[in-house]
Amino acid sequence: MARWSCSAVYVFVIATLLSLLSSATQSRAAEIGAREPAAIDRTGIETLIIDGKHYLIPPPWAGHRMAVPSLPAGSFRLIPREHAYNGTTVHIHVSAFAPLLAMLRQARIDGIDLQVESGYRSERYQRLIFSRMLAAGRDFDDIIRFVAPPGYSQHHLGTAVDFYPSDWRFAATADYAWLQDNAARFCFEQTYPQDNAEGMPWEAWHWNYAGTGDPAKDAMTRGQPQGRCAEMTAIEETARENDGQP
Ligand SMILES: [Zn+2]
Repeated sequence: MARWSCSAVYVFVIATLLSLLSSATQSRAAEIGAREPAAIDRTGIETLIIDGKHYLIPPPWAGHRMAVPSLPAGSFRLIPREHAYNGTTVHIHVSAFAPLLAMLRQARIDGIDLQVESGYRSERYQRLIFSRMLAAGRDFDDIIRFVAPPGYSQHHLGTAVDFYPSDWRFAATADYAWLQDNAARFCFEQTYPQDNAEGMPWEAWHWNYAGTGDPAKDAMTRGQPQGRCAEMTAIEETARENDGQP
């Protein structure tokens, strides 16, 4: 009897150990799931996990995942509320701040009141947007026709802005016409113009700061030609000096 009891104890101990191991594995999986990274498997297929569900990243997004550098606190500036749609809080990377402000002010002088609707968005925030849209019954493939998947948005770099209204209506506005004529002077460019070579959806409202000519800063963007924006760098440095920034 004593031997049986002893065996029963062993069985119980082993079962408990196995159960602990199993739950440890599960919690590790849950932890990985919580971070929900985009993954590229050995066949080159890119997937994204949102709320525990896997989604395939199709063309044209596939292969365009952003390498986002770590952006410490202090990398961003608040866009003055007078230029933000509905006076909301919108941040942009410090390298693009002065050129953006110069562009917004010039537009106003020309009678164009550009309203920034969105700027820096972390990958985590982009994921939240998707999570909410999916929860509302939207289809993943439909969402990515209009919104970049988390990890694939230029907004993660902090150099891109969306002007109001950030949808198809923008292409018909005087604001858009003004940007097409003037944005390049301020080193901003439309990332995804109509019929772009990459086959990305046309985003008339989405404009990105194209770089300073400084390789370290240009690594933040899409590798624009160096030196193109030297003028903007000068504006930026002057603005920083005036602000007493380092
Ligand atoms: Zn955008």
